[in-house]
Amino acid sequence: MDAQHRTIMETIIPPPLPVLLPISGSLVGFPVRRVYCVGRNYAAHAIEMGHDPDREPPFFFQKNPDNLLAAGSAFPYPPLTADVHHEVELVVALKRGGTDIAVEDALDCVYGYAVGIDFTRRDLQAEAKKAGKPWAAAKAFEHSAPISAITPAEAIGHPVNGNIWLKVNGELRQQGDLDQMIWKVPEIIAELSKLFTLAPGDVIMTGTPSGVGAVARGDEVTCGVDGVAALAVHVL
Ligand code: MN
Repeated sequence: MDAQHRTIMETIIPPPLPVLLPISGSLVGFPVRRVYCVGRNYAAHAIEMGHDPDREPPFFFQKNPDNLLAAGSAFPYPPLTADVHHEVELVVALKRGGTDIAVEDALDCVYGYAVGIDFTRRDLQAEAKKAGKPWAAAKAFEHSAPISAITPAEAIGHPVNGNIWLKVNGELRQQGDLDQMIWKVPEIIAELSKLFTLAPGDVIMTGTPSGVGAVARGDEVTCGVDGVAALAVHVL
Protein backbone atom coordinates (compact mmCIF):
# COMPACT_ATOMS: atom_id res chain seq x y z
CA MET A 1 0.00 0.00 0.00
CA ASP A 2 1.39 3.43 -0.85
CA ALA A 3 1.90 6.02 1.83
CA GLN A 4 -1.05 8.16 0.76
CA HIS A 5 -3.63 5.41 1.13
CA ARG A 6 -2.63 3.54 4.24
CA THR A 7 -4.48 4.16 7.46
CA ILE A 8 -2.30 6.25 9.76
CA MET A 9 -2.12 4.71 13.23
CA GLU A 10 0.89 6.40 14.78
CA THR A 11 1.99 10.00 15.05
CA ILE A 12 5.44 11.41 14.39
CA ILE A 13 5.20 13.63 17.47
CA PRO A 14 2.89 13.18 20.49
CA PRO A 15 -0.64 14.29 19.56
CA PRO A 16 -1.90 17.39 21.39
CA LEU A 17 -3.92 16.59 24.48
CA PRO A 18 -7.64 17.33 24.30
CA VAL A 19 -8.71 20.49 26.11
CA LEU A 20 -11.14 19.46 28.85
CA LEU A 21 -13.30 21.83 30.87
CA PRO A 22 -14.72 20.79 34.22
CA ILE A 23 -18.48 20.37 34.55
CA SER A 24 -19.96 21.38 37.89
CA GLY A 25 -21.19 18.39 39.87
CA SER A 26 -19.53 15.90 37.55
CA LEU A 27 -16.26 14.00 37.29
CA VAL A 28 -16.26 13.90 33.50
CA GLY A 29 -14.94 16.73 31.37
CA PHE A 30 -16.28 18.76 28.46
CA PRO A 31 -13.91 18.40 25.47
CA VAL A 32 -13.41 21.64 23.54
CA ARG A 33 -13.32 21.71 19.73
CA ARG A 34 -13.41 25.39 18.77
CA VAL A 35 -13.80 28.71 20.57
CA TYR A 36 -15.90 31.40 18.89
CA CYS A 37 -16.27 34.92 20.27
CA VAL A 38 -18.87 37.60 19.51
CA GLY A 39 -17.75 41.22 19.19
CA ARG A 40 -19.69 44.24 20.52
CA ASN A 41 -22.78 42.43 21.76
CA TYR A 42 -23.83 44.92 24.47
CA ALA A 43 -24.80 48.43 23.35
CA ALA A 44 -23.07 50.14 26.29
CA HIS A 45 -19.78 48.38 25.46
CA ALA A 46 -20.09 49.22 21.73
CA ILE A 47 -20.51 52.88 22.73
CA GLU A 48 -17.51 52.85 25.13
CA MET A 49 -15.37 51.43 22.28
CA GLY A 50 -16.47 54.25 19.97
CA HIS A 51 -18.99 52.34 17.83
CA ASP A 52 -22.62 52.78 16.85
CA PRO A 53 -24.73 50.48 19.05
CA ASP A 54 -27.29 49.84 16.29
CA ARG A 55 -28.09 46.24 15.59
CA GLU A 56 -25.55 45.50 12.90
CA PRO A 57 -25.07 41.84 11.97
CA PRO A 58 -22.95 40.14 14.65
CA PHE A 59 -19.29 39.58 13.88
CA PHE A 60 -17.09 36.81 15.15
CA PHE A 61 -13.47 36.07 15.93
CA GLN A 62 -11.84 33.02 17.46
CA LYS A 63 -9.55 31.97 20.23
CA ASN A 64 -7.79 28.63 20.28
CA PRO A 65 -9.11 25.80 22.46
CA ASP A 66 -5.83 25.65 24.37
CA ASN A 67 -6.11 29.39 25.18
CA LEU A 68 -8.81 28.42 27.68
CA LEU A 69 -7.64 28.54 31.27
CA ALA A 70 -9.69 26.17 33.40
CA ALA A 71 -11.33 27.16 36.67
CA GLY A 72 -9.24 28.30 39.61
CA SER A 73 -6.07 29.08 37.69
CA ALA A 74 -3.71 32.01 37.61
CA PHE A 75 -3.44 34.25 34.54
CA PRO A 76 0.16 35.04 33.55
CA TYR A 77 0.39 38.63 32.29
CA PRO A 78 1.17 38.22 28.57
CA PRO A 79 4.19 39.64 26.73
CA LEU A 80 4.36 42.54 24.26
CA THR A 81 1.57 44.56 25.82
CA ALA A 82 1.07 47.21 28.47
CA ASP A 83 -2.74 47.27 28.32
CA VAL A 84 -4.48 43.96 29.00
CA HIS A 85 -8.23 44.45 29.43
CA HIS A 86 -10.80 42.23 31.14
CA GLU A 87 -14.05 41.40 29.33
CA VAL A 88 -16.46 39.23 31.35
CA GLU A 89 -18.73 37.09 29.17
CA LEU A 90 -21.42 34.43 29.31
CA VAL A 91 -20.00 31.30 27.68
CA VAL A 92 -22.13 28.74 25.85
CA ALA A 93 -20.96 25.11 25.42
CA LEU A 94 -22.48 23.08 22.57
CA LYS A 95 -23.36 19.38 22.67
CA ARG A 96 -24.70 19.39 19.11
CA GLY A 97 -23.92 21.32 15.94
CA GLY A 98 -24.85 21.66 12.32
CA THR A 99 -25.21 24.26 9.61
CA ASP A 100 -28.07 26.71 9.05
CA ILE A 101 -29.53 25.98 12.48
CA ALA A 102 -32.90 27.70 12.94
CA VAL A 103 -33.20 30.17 15.82
CA GLU A 104 -36.02 28.08 17.32
CA ASP A 105 -33.86 24.92 17.28
CA ALA A 106 -30.65 26.55 18.51
CA LEU A 107 -31.05 25.95 22.24
CA ASP A 108 -31.30 22.18 21.59
CA CYS A 109 -27.59 22.42 20.72
CA VAL A 110 -26.58 23.85 24.11
CA TYR A 111 -25.05 21.58 26.74
CA GLY A 112 -24.46 24.26 29.34
CA TYR A 113 -23.18 27.66 30.35
CA ALA A 114 -20.13 29.13 32.07
CA VAL A 115 -18.60 32.51 32.81
CA GLY A 116 -15.34 33.46 31.15
CA ILE A 117 -13.00 36.39 30.61
CA ASP A 118 -12.00 37.42 27.09
CA PHE A 119 -8.64 38.94 28.04
CA THR A 120 -7.55 41.34 25.30
CA ARG A 121 -4.22 43.01 24.53
CA ARG A 122 -6.08 46.29 23.90
CA ASP A 123 -3.00 48.14 22.65
CA LEU A 124 -2.35 45.47 20.02
CA GLN A 125 -6.04 45.44 19.11
CA ALA A 126 -6.05 49.22 18.63
CA GLU A 127 -3.02 48.97 16.32
CA ALA A 128 -4.64 46.12 14.38
CA LYS A 129 -7.91 48.03 13.98
CA LYS A 130 -6.05 51.10 12.74
CA ALA A 131 -4.07 49.08 10.21
CA GLY A 132 -6.99 46.86 9.13
CA LYS A 133 -5.07 43.82 10.39
CA PRO A 134 -6.51 40.72 12.09
CA TRP A 135 -7.07 40.52 15.84
CA ALA A 136 -5.32 37.21 16.53
CA ALA A 137 -2.42 38.70 18.49
CA ALA A 138 -4.83 40.85 20.52
CA LYS A 139 -7.19 38.02 21.37
CA ALA A 140 -5.84 34.49 20.87
CA PHE A 141 -2.79 34.49 23.14
CA GLU A 142 -1.80 31.96 25.81
CA HIS A 143 -4.26 31.61 28.73
CA SER A 144 -6.34 34.47 27.30
CA ALA A 145 -9.66 32.93 28.23
CA PRO A 146 -10.05 31.94 31.89
CA ILE A 147 -13.31 30.01 32.24
CA SER A 148 -15.39 28.55 35.06
CA ALA A 149 -16.71 25.03 35.24
CA ILE A 150 -19.67 24.48 32.94
CA THR A 151 -23.12 24.35 34.52
CA PRO A 152 -25.39 22.01 32.54
CA ALA A 153 -28.54 23.56 31.07
CA GLU A 154 -30.29 20.52 32.54
CA ALA A 155 -29.65 22.05 35.97
CA ILE A 156 -30.42 25.75 35.31
CA GLY A 157 -32.31 26.00 32.03
CA HIS A 158 -31.32 28.62 29.45
CA PRO A 159 -30.70 31.98 31.13
CA VAL A 160 -32.14 34.99 29.26
CA ASN A 161 -31.52 37.54 32.00
CA GLY A 162 -29.34 37.83 35.07
CA ASN A 163 -26.58 39.94 36.49
CA ILE A 164 -23.18 39.66 34.75
CA TRP A 165 -20.36 41.36 36.66
CA LEU A 166 -16.61 41.61 37.20
CA LYS A 167 -14.59 43.01 40.09
CA VAL A 168 -10.88 43.83 40.33
CA ASN A 169 -9.51 43.67 43.90
CA GLY A 170 -13.10 43.81 45.17
CA GLU A 171 -14.04 46.93 43.19
CA LEU A 172 -16.93 46.57 40.74
CA ARG A 173 -15.71 47.29 37.20
CA GLN A 174 -18.24 45.66 34.89
CA GLN A 175 -21.92 45.13 35.44
CA GLY A 176 -24.71 44.35 33.02
CA ASP A 177 -27.60 42.01 32.46
CA LEU A 178 -27.85 39.16 29.99
CA ASP A 179 -31.06 40.76 28.70
CA GLN A 180 -28.89 43.62 27.32
CA MET A 181 -27.27 41.31 24.76
CA ILE A 182 -27.92 42.71 21.27
CA TRP A 183 -27.81 39.21 19.77
CA LYS A 184 -29.33 36.55 22.03
CA VAL A 185 -27.83 33.08 22.42
CA PRO A 186 -30.18 31.33 19.92
CA GLU A 187 -29.52 34.06 17.35
CA ILE A 188 -25.76 33.83 17.85
CA ILE A 189 -25.85 30.05 17.27
CA ALA A 190 -28.04 30.49 14.19
CA GLU A 191 -25.77 33.21 12.73
CA LEU A 192 -22.56 31.27 13.47
CA SER A 193 -24.01 28.16 11.82
CA LYS A 194 -24.52 30.09 8.58
CA LEU A 195 -20.78 30.81 8.46
CA PHE A 196 -19.32 27.66 10.02
CA THR A 197 -20.27 24.05 10.64
CA LEU A 198 -20.85 23.92 14.37
CA ALA A 199 -20.10 20.69 16.23
CA PRO A 200 -20.24 19.18 19.72
CA GLY A 201 -17.46 20.70 21.82
CA ASP A 202 -17.72 24.18 20.33
CA VAL A 203 -17.67 26.98 22.88
CA ILE A 204 -19.03 30.49 22.29
CA MET A 205 -18.06 33.62 24.24
CA THR A 206 -21.06 35.91 23.85
CA GLY A 207 -19.64 39.42 24.31
CA THR A 208 -19.02 41.75 27.21
CA PRO A 209 -21.01 44.49 28.97
CA SER A 210 -19.49 47.94 29.49
CA GLY A 211 -16.77 48.75 31.98
CA VAL A 212 -13.82 46.99 30.36
CA GLY A 213 -10.47 48.11 31.70
CA ALA A 214 -6.88 47.21 32.41
CA VAL A 215 -5.54 44.63 34.83
CA ALA A 216 -2.10 44.61 36.44
CA ARG A 217 0.15 41.94 37.88
CA GLY A 218 -1.06 40.99 41.37
CA ASP A 219 -4.72 41.83 40.72
CA GLU A 220 -7.46 39.52 41.96
CA VAL A 221 -10.20 39.36 39.36
CA THR A 222 -13.57 37.90 40.31
CA CYS A 223 -16.56 37.63 38.02
CA GLY A 224 -19.78 35.82 37.52
CA VAL A 225 -23.13 35.42 35.90
CA ASP A 226 -25.62 35.10 38.75
CA GLY A 227 -27.38 31.75 38.67
CA VAL A 228 -24.82 30.32 36.24
CA ALA A 229 -21.26 30.36 37.56
CA ALA A 230 -18.52 32.43 39.20
CA LEU A 231 -14.78 32.59 38.65
CA ALA A 232 -11.72 33.98 40.44
CA VAL A 233 -8.46 34.66 38.61
CA HIS A 234 -5.15 35.90 40.00
CA VAL A 235 -3.03 37.96 37.58
CA LEU A 236 0.59 36.84 37.80
MN1 MN B 1 -15.09 39.96 24.10
